[in-house]
Amino acid sequence: MSNGKSILVDTSLCTGCRGCQVACKQWNNLPGTKTKQIGTYQNPQDFSFETWKVVRFADGRQEDGKPYWYFFSDMCRHCIEPPCKISIEMTVKDAVIQDQATGAVVYTEKTKQVQFKDVMCPYGIPKQNPKTKVLTKCTMCIDRIKNGLIPACVKACPTGAVVFGDRDKILDMAKKRVTELKKTYPKAMAINPDEVRVIYIVTDNPKKYWKFAAGV
Ligand code: SF4
Repeated sequence: MSNGKSILVDTSLCTGCRGCQVACKQWNNLPGTKTKQIGTYQNPQDFSFETWKVVRFADGRQEDGKPYWYFFSDMCRHCIEPPCKISIEMTVKDAVIQDQATGAVVYTEKTKQVQFKDVMCPYGIPKQNPKTKVLTKCTMCIDRIKNGLIPACVKACPTGAVVFGDRDKILDMAKKRVTELKKTYPKAMAINPDEVRVIYIVTDNPKKYWKFAAGV
């Protein structure tokens, strides 16, 4: 396999518009879900079997008292050695496909045979359809990629915060962007770039964005 594909999510460019979240629903024919206002602009509050992309909103105060408001366009990281695949296939063989050309981690119908509680993911991604028991999550839009298109979330992003391409190029872009950001934000970093295909750049401690941002 070549080095496959990757997605770069540069949170410093994200405006929290949620175009990516809507595009994911639209492309994958996922319905809207009824939600409740609980005092945050984030909506919905988490992934579900019919929500595979969530822009997380986090606000608080820095150590010096200055406020922060961060956006984190959360999705499956398409891990290089996916703990979910390893844990699922301890009981059900060939339930998860790791696409040769892209490296995308894609669940099949066979995932309904696994005990959901046994599925490991450091980022809290997979969910289960309560009726069919099939596990669901982002597919990297493998159906679009195979037809020469880029993932729907990437296509929809109006600020260039989400970028798709050959992994080697994305890794290079991430490195250069972190070097640039560090001039203004000394804590800027790429999160686990050697372990995942969806690489996040943050300008502060990942835990301030989302409890699972850096993995557990
Ligand atoms: Fe699997 Fe979680 Fe990695 Fe996605 S982020 S490939 S669901 S372990």
